[in-house]
Amino acid sequence: GWWCWIIPLRGGNVSAGIVYDSRLFKLADGPNLGERLRAHLLSHPVGAEIFGNAQIIEHDVHAYSALPYSSKKVCDDGWATVGDAAGFIDPLYSPGLDFCSYTSYFVADLLARNLAGEDVAESLAYYNEQLPITYRLWFETLYKDKYYYMGDAELMSAALLLDVGTYFIGLVIPVYRDPEREFLHLPFEGRAGRVFGGMMKFYNRRLVALAKRRLATGCYGRRNAGWRELYDGFVPDARVRKLIRKGLFHWWRAELTNLRLILTPGAKNRAPSSSTATSTAVAAPL
Ligand SMILES: Cc1cc2nc3c(=O)[nH]c(=O)nc-3n(C[C@H](O)[C@H](O)[C@H](O)COP(=O)(O)OP(=O)(O)OC[C@H]3O[C@@H](n4cnc5c(N)ncnc54)[C@H](O)[C@@H]3O)c2cc1C
Repeated sequence: GWWCWIIPLRGGNVSAGIVYDSRLFKLADGPNLGERLRAHLLSHPVGAEIFGNAQIIEHDVHAYSALPYSSKKVCDDGWATVGDAAGFIDPLYSPGLDFCSYTSYFVADLLARNLAGEDVAESLAYYNEQLPITYRLWFETLYKDKYYYMGDAELMSAALLLDVGTYFIGLVIPVYRDPEREFLHLPFEGRAGRVFGGMMKFYNRRLVALAKRRLATGCYGRRNAGWRELYDGFVPDARVRKLIRKGLFHWWRAELTNLRLILTPGAKNRAPSSSTATSTAVAAPL
């Protein structure tokens, strides 16, 4: 139910933080926010390695809740919102600058045409209609209930490969081919966009369902020990298909495990292996 960011900054400081779904996880109590975050970071082997001797920078620790929002109306005659001002979902996958690119490119084009005397009423109507759809589908395909399966390496690996792979196929490769054209079309546009979004929502919902069964049967995170997520890297060409195939393989193998859990009564309530202690503790409030 949580993930952490660790970003080395210039001059040796490191930005670190946690994002979590409060339905699934609570940050343990402590004397102050900085100490609570430090204790959490140190509870993980990677965090312990990086932050073992780290010092908290006083007055630079912040917490926010209920950050996501979207806007029903994003422009009208004489104004338009772009970037984070138009909406915010979750920093996982770092979508912020993608949204900035699409929205600011679209609005800059609209402004230029308007200043040149063109009637932009149709573009304003498109932006008001499509941007809320884009946000809603972006949320439902990538983020809705994702934190249920985040602690299970197999399920999260399937999601990571499918999410980033489809992002490359659907957005990155077209933008690399023709940025001028593609940045003027917001993601999940039209019938094709909705079909694509529907497919992504489907596998996301399935992964959530698989995670819930694993939690209920004590099998959550059973493959976590020793899991290594190493790729050549995501590149904007046909090689990305290999990663999607790998994601599909993880997903379908998890579906088979799910079938076994349904059909094998003995699988129920089997204790998870000790190597999954972190994930299991996170998932326990369910
Ligand atoms: C820790 C962290 C890591 C991130 N990592 C990534 C990443 O790896 N990749 C990625 O794509 N995105 C990342 N993001 C998100 C990304 O930074 C934002 O999506 C992006 O900065 C949004 O740009 P923006 O111009 O819409 O808003 P902002 O960058 O927030 O700019 C808004 C500006 O308006 C100013 N302002 C506010 N109110 C007023 C006012 N009343 N009058 C005048 N000025 C005002 C603010 O001071 C600010 O300078 C990250 C964000 C954070 C916090």
